[in-house]
Amino acid sequence: MAKTFIENIAQKLRIIPDLDREHASGSLQPLRKFPSADEWHNFTELDANAWPLRLERNYSLVPTTCFNCESACGLLAYVDKDNGEVAKFEGNPHHPGSRGRNCAKGPATINQIHDTERIMHPLRRTGKRGEGGWEQISWDEALDEIAAKIRSSLKRGGVDKVVYHVGRPGHEGYANRVLKAWGVDGHNSHTNICSAGARTGYSLWQKHDRPSPDHTNAKVILLTSSHLETGHYFNPHAQRILEGMMEGAKLIVIDPRLSNTAAMADHWLPTWPGGETALFLAWAKMIIERGLFDREFMETQVNWDSWMRAVHPNEPCEFERFIELLGEEYAEYTPEFAAAECRIPVEQVIEVGEVVANAGTQLCTHVWRSAAIGNLGGWQVSRSLHFLNVLTGSVGTVGGTSPNSWSKFKPSLFDVPPDPDGWNELHFPPEYTLSHYEMSHILPHLIKDGRGTMDVYFTRVFNPVWTYPDGFSWIEMLENEEAVGCHIALTPTWNETAFFADYVLPMGHASERHDVNSYATSSGKWVAFRQPVLREYARRQGREVEFTHEVNPGQVWEEDEFWIELSWRIDDGTMGIREHFMSPYREGEKITVDEYYQYLFERVPGLPEAAEKEGTNALGYMRQHGAFLIEEATYEKHKSEGWPTPSGKQEFYSETMIEFGYPEHSIPHYRQKSHVHPENLSGEDEYCLLPNFRLPQHIHSRSANAKWLVEIAHRNPIWIHPKDARKLGVAEGDLLKIETEIGWFVDKVWVTEGIKPGVVGCSHHIGRWRRKQDRGNRFLTNTVAIEDQGNGKMRMKTVSGVEPWKSDDPDTNRIWWRDGGVHQNITHAVQPDPISGAHCWLQKVRLSRPGPGEDYGDIEVDREKSFEYYKRWNEWAKDRETHPRGERRPLWMKRPLSPKKEHWYIQD
Ligand code: SF4
Repeated sequence: MAKTFIENIAQKLRIIPDLDREHASGSLQPLRKFPSADEWHNFTELDANAWPLRLERNYSLVPTTCFNCESACGLLAYVDKDNGEVAKFEGNPHHPGSRGRNCAKGPATINQIHDTERIMHPLRRTGKRGEGGWEQISWDEALDEIAAKIRSSLKRGGVDKVVYHVGRPGHEGYANRVLKAWGVDGHNSHTNICSAGARTGYSLWQKHDRPSPDHTNAKVILLTSSHLETGHYFNPHAQRILEGMMEGAKLIVIDPRLSNTAAMADHWLPTWPGGETALFLAWAKMIIERGLFDREFMETQVNWDSWMRAVHPNEPCEFERFIELLGEEYAEYTPEFAAAECRIPVEQVIEVGEVVANAGTQLCTHVWRSAAIGNLGGWQVSRSLHFLNVLTGSVGTVGGTSPNSWSKFKPSLFDVPPDPDGWNELHFPPEYTLSHYEMSHILPHLIKDGRGTMDVYFTRVFNPVWTYPDGFSWIEMLENEEAVGCHIALTPTWNETAFFADYVLPMGHASERHDVNSYATSSGKWVAFRQPVLREYARRQGREVEFTHEVNPGQVWEEDEFWIELSWRIDDGTMGIREHFMSPYREGEKITVDEYYQYLFERVPGLPEAAEKEGTNALGYMRQHGAFLIEEATYEKHKSEGWPTPSGKQEFYSETMIEFGYPEHSIPHYRQKSHVHPENLSGEDEYCLLPNFRLPQHIHSRSANAKWLVEIAHRNPIWIHPKDARKLGVAEGDLLKIETEIGWFVDKVWVTEGIKPGVVGCSHHIGRWRRKQDRGNRFLTNTVAIEDQGNGKMRMKTVSGVEPWKSDDPDTNRIWWRDGGVHQNITHAVQPDPISGAHCWLQKVRLSRPGPGEDYGDIEVDREKSFEYYKRWNEWAKDRETHPRGERRPLWMKRPLSPKKEHWYIQD
């Protein structure tokens, strides 16, 4: 581009560098995307902040992986050799999933590690739990005290009293191995507020419970999600969706909200929440009627014959007859029916149906959270969506959708302790026979219901008080020392749940910890290494480090080493725990974290050979590159591996559903209408609140200390369609009171055509809070006062919004925003789907102007109502409770951390 007159003068006066002359002299380096690998230990670049001075900075570049969402994209930490500190993060081009690219949250890791309010030392509470008093203790004190509590619990013989509840996972079997070594059925997760609905639908078909779309090679990309901006694997997926689109793939997005992804789509279908199942079945009918199904795949890979024998025993068990009967079975799903259920034009159902029906084996589909975790019966959404892949034969194909487990590496661990000898009914209550993961969102309600207690409860990078529905019930549970004997928060940042802990133990961010990652981000299979970068830098400098906290800021540690040390101290020499933490390389000695990963990486197919070519070993290779591609492509594995279902086929017909008391769901259908279906709303005065969408800049509750991210996004107004705004007489910025089943909150209005009439939206990333006595996250937290009004009624009032403060970081005093948003989740009732167990996030709400004394950000919740409401939903599961052959749940279905097989049966 030609320079301006001013630029020419400035260049001549040497106010800015004379790039023309430098270019002519050849002193300018050609532009490169990334430093080449041979420079990583010794890379020099100009300091951008020193401009116009040409100040050189020397770096050692150390790879790790991002810890800010599940994608585990590659990062390169730039360690400044002058001061030994991490100066910035960029993408790691050697990572096969992210290929050098990141979303905003990756580089913002630098904000998190330099957060002036981060937790630097182990803390123990003083005063009553939840009061906010803390004292600094040493790691030795923390380990000894916690070990004593666990030892005492284990010696009393409980297998369900020590619990590890994980928010952000990503350590591939590490913690489960530890729990097994302790002999406890103690794994709990966040999955039932996240992916359990979708997982159930996929699992019924193929046991593999997640999809892995091959977007790059697709002809049609069908998203019931917003993967160009958020969602699991979204950065790795987004880049591949765009590649597919650049090659001509059509993008179809189904979402009641005009997300950034929907805005990029060829077809946006703003469906009424829950209607998606009807839509997919209408498209299935189109494929069947027009004979556009993949006969070979259907005939050989699907258990159609089981359905014929069971449901049509008098018919010939022939594929042609099956197709005829299939057409009759789905005749009810006309385009008109789907259009009415979804409240979209019938022409759109047909037009987009044509695109889907003609995609052939290059149909990429995905549903993540959204409809599958929103609605009662949301699991039907993924089941009917996958039906489209089955019909078109686009399962496991180039450009199609594969099971995620084909692309996920499972590590070999150095030691496998026996399965736990018992069953934790707080995690898998008997009435939720098909719940895909632990019933974590009703944990406080189960405890209140007298169904168990916990001696020691670890929350790991997990913030249910804020992230989960009905947070006041979590506070009630955590404040009750009879219910939770000891609560230990393992967390890199302060959060609302840590306020109610006995110990707060600081764990590292992405560059301060070890983990191994592998995710189905594309059609290949890779493994990546999250490593504490200053430890690797120290190694490169020839310095020995025993524990990661020696190189991290303050006393920040990591779980891997913490678990080894804790396990060692639990065992008084009589418990058989230490034997599971012995070095595989040094007889009779405790394993080190380096040995753990050495053993693991030595067993990654192809990695030792690749390492040898570079003159190093497997661990050395991963320290240097950060990731390794195990398989280029993982298509059509069913041809060698088959399907791990009871029939060995893709299960169109599920005997499991019949046996476990749900015969109406034996094949994909739309037999369960959502709790927010218009028939279940009280006329037009009741709305559907869509609370389960992410903002691209935020993680659920770990980005409030990332100043760059918060500056971009810090409010969560109510999205409302102009028609509804007119009806309610509200305009942009007005206050609205949103009444849920158990309480209400007051938020501001954003009037937009980007939301379906009758539906209101509110992102659940914003509305973080702390009380006067609490610490942390001041970029995004309102200061609140919580008042117990008696009879179960809790009130939260915003005392002040976000404010600047003085610290070592001048930016904290430059904060210009004041609005920290509104915490809505805490006003949501728990709504456990009786089949998948998933929380149904969508809420029935009433909207009105706030009354006197009801101000922006105010919240009220009735805990008694919330318990009654839980009971009502819980009854639906109890009504159908069926245990064929005494099985607690189908033996073939997945369960994380499976106990011994005999415990899979209900005991007398
Ligand atoms: S997509 Fe996730 S893992 Fe990748 S950079 Fe963003 S936050 Fe990090």
